[in-house]
Order: sequence, then structure tokens, then C-alpha cells
Amino acid sequence: MKAAAFDYLRASSVDEALEALSTAENAKVLAGGQSLVPLLNRRLARPSVLVDINGLDLSSIQRTNDHLVLGALTRHRAVETSPLVARDLPLLTEALRHVGHVAIRNRGTFGGSLAHADPAAELPAVAVALDAEFTVRGEHGLRTISARDFFTGSGQTALEADELLVEVRLPVLPARTGHAVEELSRRSHDLALVAVFVTVTLDADGACEQARIAIAGAGPTPIRAIAAEESLRGSVLTPALIAGAAREAAAATDPASDLHAPADYRRDMAAVLARRAITRANGSAR
Ligand SMILES: Cc1cc2nc3c(=O)[nH]c(=O)nc-3n(C[C@H](O)[C@H](O)[C@H](O)COP(=O)(O)OP(=O)(O)OC[C@H]3O[C@@H](n4cnc5c(N)ncnc54)[C@H](O)[C@@H]3O)c2cc1C
Repeated sequence: MKAAAFDYLRASSVDEALEALSTAENAKVLAGGQSLVPLLNRRLARPSVLVDINGLDLSSIQRTNDHLVLGALTRHRAVETSPLVARDLPLLTEALRHVGHVAIRNRGTFGGSLAHADPAAELPAVAVALDAEFTVRGEHGLRTISARDFFTGSGQTALEADELLVEVRLPVLPARTGHAVEELSRRSHDLALVAVFVTVTLDADGACEQARIAIAGAGPTPIRAIAAEESLRGSVLTPALIAGAAREAAAATDPASDLHAPADYRRDMAAVLARRAITRANGSAR
């Protein structure tokens, strides 16, 4: 099938993109096109205008005092291969290796994946795990949205139709932090059936100072497993403690059954993957 007819505007400035988004009836932003173009071709999206933002200066990876700041148009592959990201946020580097395959990652953008808000996608879950902050621009200026408020449902975000995601701020985690991504998918480049993203920060005595656990593919939005995180805080992590936290993490999920997997299977796998991820993150924090 071919896409329904639409007008096309290649924006040469953020202001021009915002004006087009606010004046056209049903305009859509085009970034890497790796999610939007398949939707157009299947006529699941029928915008009147595509506002192409690929000419905008929104592609960058920068370190500020205690954050990495990524421009929304930064390609997945640029983030994945960035030495700065590998040094300061290796959770993100590991997560990106699970996003599609290299051809997809060459075109797909960091901001596009977040704005698309697929509940099985890796980057929204990483953003939720790290309490990322999203900088959004509209015709009336900038606003900041926390990752937990940004994802409002499956494919739904707090972005207004006339707003552009321009930048994402991710905190750099302290020394003695380990990380792990454990993902189950049918083929290596498929979206996750379930994926678990963990960081563990240890104190000087080797006890868990802070754990961050987020789960993709197990609810309409990425899930932050707060009770599981709390159950680990302050203790030297033993296999029994980790297994208990993994069960807590699975209990926080709200999976649906679909043609890919039944809900019970996803919940069971969330526990298995959480146990593996916490164990590996704890081991790599030493
Ligand atoms: C075969 C295949 C396999 C894939 N596998 C995975 C996978 O395993 N994991 C995964 O996470 N993803 C996967 N993807 C999706 C891929 O990561 C996409 O790159 C990503 O979801 C969307 O990014 P994009 O830049 O291509 O956005 P686009 O497709 O251009 O846009 C997606 C949506 O976001 C909106 N949008 C884009 N940028 C902005 C912005 N700056 N501000 C506001 N709205 C914006 C668009 O209007 C559109 O609604 C796969 C895609 C394909 C084709």
C-alpha cells in the first residue's frame, strides 16, 4: 500500500517548523522516519502535512556538569558509538544495541523514539529509569517535562500537536554504578517482548545506595519498579534479596496479551530478566 497524499515542508528553522505545526490542521513531524513512514504506508497515519525537521540544528551530544544533553535529532547510531556516552552513561550504549539493526539506527533519532512512545521500545524505558528531562518547544516558548510525566499511554505523550521535542537531559550516575539491560525478543532486531533496564550504585561498604529499575513491554508505558528499588536500598545484595526484588518488579508490571505473547508469560519473563539484570548491574558496580 502507498501513503495517502500529504503536503511536505522541509523546515529550515525551529520557528518555521513550529509555525507549520500550529497552523496546519493535522501536521506531523518527520524525523528519522523509521516509525512514521511504515505507519504512513499502511495508512495508519494520514497527516495533511509532513514537517521534515532533518535540516534543523538539533543533533548534538554534550556533557554539562552532571548531565548528558542529547539533541532530539541525534541518530541512534551516533549515540551508540559515542565515547562520551559509553563513558558517562553506558546503560544507554548497551540499550541502543537492542534498537532494531544498524540500518535503522543510522536513520532513527533519539527524540523520534521518545516521541513515538512505543511501550516496547528501549529508549523510553532508559529515560524513565534515569529520570530524564525533556525540553519541548512550542510557539509560546520552552517547557520541561519529566520522563515519568512524558509517557501518558501506548504511543501517547504529553507533547502537544504543535510542540517539538528539542533536547533530552540525562543525569550522569555516580562512581561505583553498574548497569545491565536484559531483553527478550523473538529476533535480535525485533521490539522487546519484555526488557529490563537496571543501574545499581554501591556505597563504600558495597551496600546498595540506589537502584533504578525500568521495564519495557510490560504495560502501556515504561514501568518504574519503585518498590523493587526500595527493597534493595541499604543492603549488600544477596541472591535471595535480588530474587525478591525481581518478583516485586514483575508485580509492578501491567502487561497485555497480544499475538506476540500472553500477559502471564511477559510477567514471568519480567521477573527472570529483572533477576539477571540486577545481578549483573550489582556485579559490574564493584
Ligand atoms: C524494522 C524496524 C525495527 C525497529 N526496531 C526497534 C527496536 O527494536 N526498538 C526500538 O525502540 N525501536 C525500533 N524501531 C523504531 C526506531 O527506533 C525508530 O527510529 C524510532 O521509533 C522513531 O524515530 P525516528 O527518528 O525514526 O522518528 P519518526 O519515524 O520520524 O517519527 C516517529 C514519531 O515521532 C514524532 N517525532 C519525531 N521526532 C519528533 C520531535 N523531535 N518532536 C516531536 N515529535 C517528533 C513523529 O511525528 C512521529 O509521530 C524499529 C524500526 C524498524 C523499521
